[in-house]
Amino acid sequence: MSNTRQVDAVVVGAGFGGLYMLHRMRKQGLTARVIEAGDGVGGTWYWNRYPGARCDIQSLEYSYQFSNELQQQWEWSERYATQPEILRYINHVADRFDLRHDISFNARVTSADFDESRNRWVVNTDTGETFDSRFVVMATGCLSSANLPPIPGLALFSGDWYHTGRWPHEPVNFSGKRVAVIGTGSSAIQSIPLIAEQASELVVFQRTANYSVPAHNQTLDPKRVAEVKAHYPQYRAANRETAFHADFGYSDRNALDVSAAERAAEFERRWAHGGLPFMASFADLMFNPQANQTAAEFIRGKISSIVKDPETARKLTPSGLVGCKRLCVDTNYYATYNQPHVSLVDINAEPIETVTTDGIRTSARDYAFDAIVFATGFDAMTGAMTRVAIRGRGGRSIQEAWKEGPKTYLGLSVNGFPNLFMITGPGSPSVLTNMLPSIEHHVDWIADCIQWTDQKQVAAIEAAEDAQENWVAHVNEVGETSVYPHCNSWYLGANVPGKPRVFMPYLGFPPYAEKCRQVVAADYEGFIKQHVA
Ligand code: NAP
Repeated sequence: MSNTRQVDAVVVGAGFGGLYMLHRMRKQGLTARVIEAGDGVGGTWYWNRYPGARCDIQSLEYSYQFSNELQQQWEWSERYATQPEILRYINHVADRFDLRHDISFNARVTSADFDESRNRWVVNTDTGETFDSRFVVMATGCLSSANLPPIPGLALFSGDWYHTGRWPHEPVNFSGKRVAVIGTGSSAIQSIPLIAEQASELVVFQRTANYSVPAHNQTLDPKRVAEVKAHYPQYRAANRETAFHADFGYSDRNALDVSAAERAAEFERRWAHGGLPFMASFADLMFNPQANQTAAEFIRGKISSIVKDPETARKLTPSGLVGCKRLCVDTNYYATYNQPHVSLVDINAEPIETVTTDGIRTSARDYAFDAIVFATGFDAMTGAMTRVAIRGRGGRSIQEAWKEGPKTYLGLSVNGFPNLFMITGPGSPSVLTNMLPSIEHHVDWIADCIQWTDQKQVAAIEAAEDAQENWVAHVNEVGETSVYPHCNSWYLGANVPGKPRVFMPYLGFPPYAEKCRQVVAADYEGFIKQHVA
């Protein structure tokens, strides 16, 4: 093992999670190495450079709070920050806290094997580096493993093709080009209006119509910024007490307890305000399908009032519950279909058969394209973990451990994989919350846990099997109280053929944080601790 570097921890990924994890570990005097596949920091915001990429959580909240100086000094320009602005921010953080020299860029972890005899991980990368490490932290993100549907013929296509989650670094110019977009999720809904501005012809291939609300993005009002900054810690603390860990202006009224006129007025007010707070119009929207239908009906009405061609409006109108698949937030999405060079193909009525040299063949006809954009999403929540050869006790792989779906305790630890932690793993609130503060919560929890193992002479810590089983059951029970399990979303793995159908995130940040606190207070209850011999 002469070329092997000894470290306290290997952290996989240099996005928001990995960078803060590195910072915390350094402050604790630990040696850590971050392994990052890209040539820069940023994670999601490094890879997702497609036109219109923007966060739909307000910038004043989608930012770190671990450093008060940082949150006071950084100036966001818009209510919802663009991808380039977020990438500037995360690069600023990397420089400000001098993080880069502990990161291996352009390197992918190929395997991680737990050596039971020494309670250490042996981690290999595709650049030939090997690390011998006490801990591994997977900061690999929930939406990072691109889902490229196995549509035949792609290799034959003579034009250019892109995946929104793997967008080139150099600008892509669609001017005068005939462009196809496959998919109508958040990435498609953000990029379609901008691609339409350039393309000579744009055809969108839709499998499931999606609900979207307008962002009403705007430059940040300096008065609002000053207000938040005057009480930033209190603002963050108040958001921590909310279900989605975000400032959505939650109502405590139920939709079905008010008159139809009051409901309509509230939906109208939220529509005019813009963004995800629409779903907080009433307390029962995510829990009562009948209440949910009132919001769904409101958006369906908006679609038919915006889209002029009745047939296109019909195709764009979703029939299911709203928010069950993640709600999209847009700027001019539905109105884009009023432009004569933009059209919509429902692939249920007209399935894609193959990509051809010149474009796409459906069951009905051949379409000619110069470029195809796959906005087909991700192998969410588990893909980034299962694509690495992680082998725990007895050489058991993570793929084997998760063959019926992800099993974790608190979304932080997996039985059989000692000293391996996940940041915002399946079974934690993660994607149902504002990711940034949820990432910070996990990083702090993991860093504190490592410190505790040092103090208590614990050589290895891992989820106990019964605690894990109970947690997985609890995550599902809580999920079942909501409308989330009732549609084919990536929350359930339903977007990837063959993936087990399991509701992966935990619904409700405050009870989750309380559970994490109680586990610590009870000396990491539910974890197996192996003491130093
Ligand atoms: P997505 O929501 O999973 O959407 C993928 C789209 O591709 C869906 O319309 C899906 O249809 C379609 N699709 C998948 N496989 C297909 C196939 N074989 N043939 C045809 N269509 C297919 O992915 P995304 O838009 O990249 O967004 C993923 C998540 O990332 C979002 O939900 C959100 O959490 C996050 N995100 C956030 C923002 C933001 O902050 N504004 C922006 C982008 C992404 P089905 O619906 O039928 O599966």
